[in-house]
Amino acid sequence: MELSGKKIIVVGLGKSGVSSATFLKKRGANVIVTDSSKDKKLFDAAGKLQKIGIAVELGYHDSSSFRDSEIIVLSPGVPHTIEPVVNAAKNGASIIGEIELASRFIKEPIVAITGTNGKTTTTILTGKMLEESGLKVFVGGNIGNPLIDYVDSGNKADIVVAEISSFQLDTIEYFSPKVSVLLNITEDHLDRYPDFNAYAKSKMRIFINQKDGDYAVFNASDKHISLMAKDIKCRILPFFNHNTLNDYNEFAKIADDRIVFNINNIAAINSDATNPDKTFEKEFSLPFSGIHLLGKHNMENVAAATLATLAAGGNIAGIKSALEKFKSLPHRIEHVATINGVEYYNDSKATTVDSVIKALEVFNKPVILIMGGRNKGSNFALLADAAKKHVKRLILIGESKEEIKSSLGGIVETTLSDSLENAVVTASKFAETDEVVLLSPACSSFDMFTSYAHRGETFRNAVKSLYL
Ligand code: ADP
Repeated sequence: MELSGKKIIVVGLGKSGVSSATFLKKRGANVIVTDSSKDKKLFDAAGKLQKIGIAVELGYHDSSSFRDSEIIVLSPGVPHTIEPVVNAAKNGASIIGEIELASRFIKEPIVAITGTNGKTTTTILTGKMLEESGLKVFVGGNIGNPLIDYVDSGNKADIVVAEISSFQLDTIEYFSPKVSVLLNITEDHLDRYPDFNAYAKSKMRIFINQKDGDYAVFNASDKHISLMAKDIKCRILPFFNHNTLNDYNEFAKIADDRIVFNINNIAAINSDATNPDKTFEKEFSLPFSGIHLLGKHNMENVAAATLATLAAGGNIAGIKSALEKFKSLPHRIEHVATINGVEYYNDSKATTVDSVIKALEVFNKPVILIMGGRNKGSNFALLADAAKKHVKRLILIGESKEEIKSSLGGIVETTLSDSLENAVVTASKFAETDEVVLLSPACSSFDMFTSYAHRGETFRNAVKSLYL
């Protein structure tokens, strides 16, 4: 991709925008960065870019800058439907994201992982499985370190593992991973997509440029995915729950106590050092007892990571060794403390209804559930069945508390609280021995916190102050 002398506008001054602009400037492009926000937090980054000769427009989008640009690099936080972008596309500009830009310069095979929930867990686990298989791995993307940083890092990996969001998939053109993984599609981001179908189509774009020799790993128990998977043009490696009807030749099946893999001719299986007598030329299994993660949803993540690792050249010894060491990531059904027989769990990263259902399914004890925050367009009524089955009391916080109360208040006992700290104190009063207090908000954190991590830390501290 020739960049020298090209007029390029980078929209969005976040981490990936800054990295993209710097990358483009180094290659001789004529770069402008624009962000419609006037937030003081952007001043630092703006100053650094200006110092290296990049023009920055903060607080507005100048339509003439868009009109003059041949390429528009759009940050994932900016919808591709905003007017200046739509007009520029009509004028023939090519609209791409940082993932597309980076992928044009990455020579190594890419494992790309998407889904509504489980992306980060599966991405990090896949990275570890490949590393334990003896490969040099770069892990990045939506996870916090842009792929474009890898290109200039000078550290050559054997393989790149990337977490990819639907927003990033909206701005790909030729991006073609060696291995693509789609974990699930459930309601999310309906504040940005016109409807569920549009969101689902965006997720399926992870497969669109794949061809012979590539691998598609997907959740065949997800009815939306299995319907659309018929259009995939490369080798498929589906995973599913044992009661899903299927006629796949190769797969990972999640049974009651293990994941059973059935795969043909993947070199790593037959050359595996732990299998000198080749007892599993085609089939092997991973018992749940060797996996230190909670819930069936995490078994899906393990199935997906294992299939992706095998397809990308990892081996079973590496997979097993990574699983032995891997524990739940912070803020994802993370055990915080047990006080007077009550277990406290931090699941602050659960910003969708489905992730809350999955967290509730982990527990066969009554749960005092703390929920609420900023609604991302979710329908909270979808929680009714799980709430009826698992929740003893619902404690609601944040902007959406009244809305959630009107969806679920008729089903479970509900208390409104004015802060997360007070919600924890209230929860501790309702909780009895052998019960669970769970923060699993089904909402984003931005109404009260700077991030889901800030919300999770606030929860942890509130729990600690119950016994300190
Ligand atoms: P993402 O990066 O997609 O947000 P994470 O691994 O960070 O995914 O997990 C986010 C939330 O989703 C957590 O609450 C976690 O427990 C839940 N979760 C993880 N994997 C799955 C899955 N496969 N299906 C549903 N929920 C999941």
